[in-house]
Amino acid sequence: MKESLIKYQNIVVLGAGESGCGAALLAQKQGMRVFVSDFDSIASPYKTLLETHAINFEEDQHTESRILQADLIVKSPGISESAAIIKSIRKAGITLVSEIEFASWFTNAFIIAVTGSNGKTTTTALIGHALQQAGMDVCVAGNIGFSFAAALVTREYDYFVLEVSSFQLDDIVNFRPDIAVLLNITPNHLDRYQNSFEAYTASKMRLIKNQNADNMLVYNIDDELINEELEKLNPSVQLFPITTNSVKINQGAALQGGQIKIHANQTNFNMTLEQLALQGKHNAYNSMAAGVTSKLLQIRNESLKQSLSDFQNIAHRLEYIANVHGISYYNDSKATSVNATWYALESMEKPVVWIAGGIDKGNDYAALMPLVRQKVKALICLGLNNKKLMETFSSVIDQVVETDNAKEAVMIASMLATNGDVVLLSPACASFDLFESYEDRGDQFKKAVNSL
Ligand code: ADP
Repeated sequence: MKESLIKYQNIVVLGAGESGCGAALLAQKQGMRVFVSDFDSIASPYKTLLETHAINFEEDQHTESRILQADLIVKSPGISESAAIIKSIRKAGITLVSEIEFASWFTNAFIIAVTGSNGKTTTTALIGHALQQAGMDVCVAGNIGFSFAAALVTREYDYFVLEVSSFQLDDIVNFRPDIAVLLNITPNHLDRYQNSFEAYTASKMRLIKNQNADNMLVYNIDDELINEELEKLNPSVQLFPITTNSVKINQGAALQGGQIKIHANQTNFNMTLEQLALQGKHNAYNSMAAGVTSKLLQIRNESLKQSLSDFQNIAHRLEYIANVHGISYYNDSKATSVNATWYALESMEKPVVWIAGGIDKGNDYAALMPLVRQKVKALICLGLNNKKLMETFSSVIDQVVETDNAKEAVMIASMLATNGDVVLLSPACASFDLFESYEDRGDQFKKAVNSL
């Protein structure tokens, strides 16, 4: 434990999900007194976990008098700054940190932290895979589903690859990744940032706020906003840009003649795009980010090549499902923003029957228009309220239809598509109007395709 932090003895954890419970267990392991408070009811596996470890908790309420007795508060990423309890904590002046900040106090591991608006999970898993294949003692954790704190309850690792969201970065203080990976910044979750893109951007840039000249930043130099921010911040961290432009770079990665070319740690690494397990321009960035990170960690070229070519993509991210009667079906249910859908459409080489819609988080569809004009032959709107989608695209797509269930969407798609076409579920919207989650939406889509 880092010396200066021993002063905290009385911890309250807000939120009893994956990260909150992880933080509570880690606090208990350190001998701290811990109380968990959740404003909603606690999901039964987490309740059992707290009970098994005899950790005190409350649910369906925040008892302010109890919470304000803490000398340290650890907040789960799901809790907004505008929540009444957070306002009271701020007013009382109690130290409040996010779970990744808290967990980082209890490890000396080498930390690789990945953020961005899109591609975090894919890139985190890909880096984890490359390190594992190279025989390193690595744990993949964070926003990807298994909390950083929970991982540290079990044991220490040599390396952590952490997926970090903007919400997790909001309340860091000293968290300092040895290697930070910044993929892209596009509008997302603005509801949590008073509709301010600047505030959301600032939150993403917090990833590098504590980095120094010993640390490294792998970043997308094609993203103008990231460039602007870096110019403003002028950080001392070592920079490793990645680009899909065919340019010469001294350190980092570029795309030249259909090959990704990496220069890092005085070594070169080349690999053709066809050899990569993950296809599409967006995935070229992800593979380059993972490749540069791996070379910075001195992973051998043969090992890295193997990992970048045999990685099994995680479900719901431009996931190939099947070819039925000459039509290929792709599940990109995780594409809940316009930017993610842009990349999905961009990577399609055949005429597309596009299934989109759901809860629109303030989408501006203008960016999709050129790709839609060029590639989309039919649109199936899969949402409770499809008005905006229908109005936007009816003038550029010949066939636009509506449905409110995945099975019917697939059925209609199979009728509108012809031999050689692609059916793509890439909604650009959240799923909660008709489905439990994006996973549920993707699973229902897959099931419908597999029963065609
Ligand atoms: P995140 O964890 O940031 O939400 P995922 O890896 O789960 O990202 O991918 C989410 C969606 O974004 C998927 O539709 C995926 O195809 C798309 N995507 C993946 N990588 C990128 C990228 N580098 N740029 C833009 N979109 C991407």
